[in-house]
Amino acid sequence: MSEPPVCDYEDSDYQTSFWDRGGREYEDRVEAIALRRLLSGPGQLMLEVGAGAGRNTARYRGYQRIVLVDYSITQLEQAQTRLGTSDMYVYVAADAYHLPFIEGLFDAATMIRVLHHMADAPRALAQVRDVLKPEGTFVLEFANKRNAKSVLRYWFGRQSWNPFTLEPVEFATLNFDFHPAAVRGWLRQMGFEIQKTLAVSHFRAGVLKRVVPVRLLVFLDSVLQWTGELWQLTPSVFARARLRASGLETPPMPAEPIGFFKCPLCGHRPLLEQPGCLKCSSCGREWPLRGGIFDFRMPPTTGFAPQD
Ligand SMILES: [Zn+2]
Repeated sequence: MSEPPVCDYEDSDYQTSFWDRGGREYEDRVEAIALRRLLSGPGQLMLEVGAGAGRNTARYRGYQRIVLVDYSITQLEQAQTRLGTSDMYVYVAADAYHLPFIEGLFDAATMIRVLHHMADAPRALAQVRDVLKPEGTFVLEFANKRNAKSVLRYWFGRQSWNPFTLEPVEFATLNFDFHPAAVRGWLRQMGFEIQKTLAVSHFRAGVLKRVVPVRLLVFLDSVLQWTGELWQLTPSVFARARLRASGLETPPMPAEPIGFFKCPLCGHRPLLEQPGCLKCSSCGREWPLRGGIFDFRMPPTTGFAPQD
């Protein structure tokens, strides 16, 4: 199978330029509301795929431990600065196509603003499915190609691609928008049942954000989010899906993070703890552990700098 390229935020100032100083208070607040509505703990172990600098991590209340995965070491270092290095957080550098975890490990998983960068979205979703427990919760955010703006642009001849067709559209290198029905179809095929859909970020327009108080836009969006059950015309869609019961007994949760991992190269587990690394006794590969970050990135990779 050919390897899809990975979108790499290494050395990116994404957190500062996009979130802290990018005029995105509105987007951040409506996301927080959507997450609160979709994620209901309590649970033991939560996986955050594409955690970045940990902007959302502290919002996942009710989970005893959170495993943050990001491809970029520098983003994870920023998350460490924000969240600290207690036992509550486990920091893992890996790509979403090769998650280094044993099957059926997590009670819940989130993937927010990540699918957007996936050239092979079903493959990344299947990775999350594999590491979730039966009946585990998955909260997924994706960029919606059939949003009101793209529909209008298409109707007025300002956009060549059709927002109503099911295939993803790559509007910039490694930036994809998806049709909601396509995403729902993938999730169902993989054994998920979709429990709730929220349409988020109705007012993502610079002019509105300048003229109308953010507080009011956030309130209106929080009311309109519920329309996601009926239609989705917003640029961002959140879904909560539950993995179907398997009938199989799930193994007990490993007490220590080292028990969470498998070798992403050959699938072998358990890995052996050695000074400065975890070693796979099957393929011999050593996975570094530096500064509290487990590094499971697969070499060699093609990195692309993100556009946002
Ligand atoms: Zn191995």
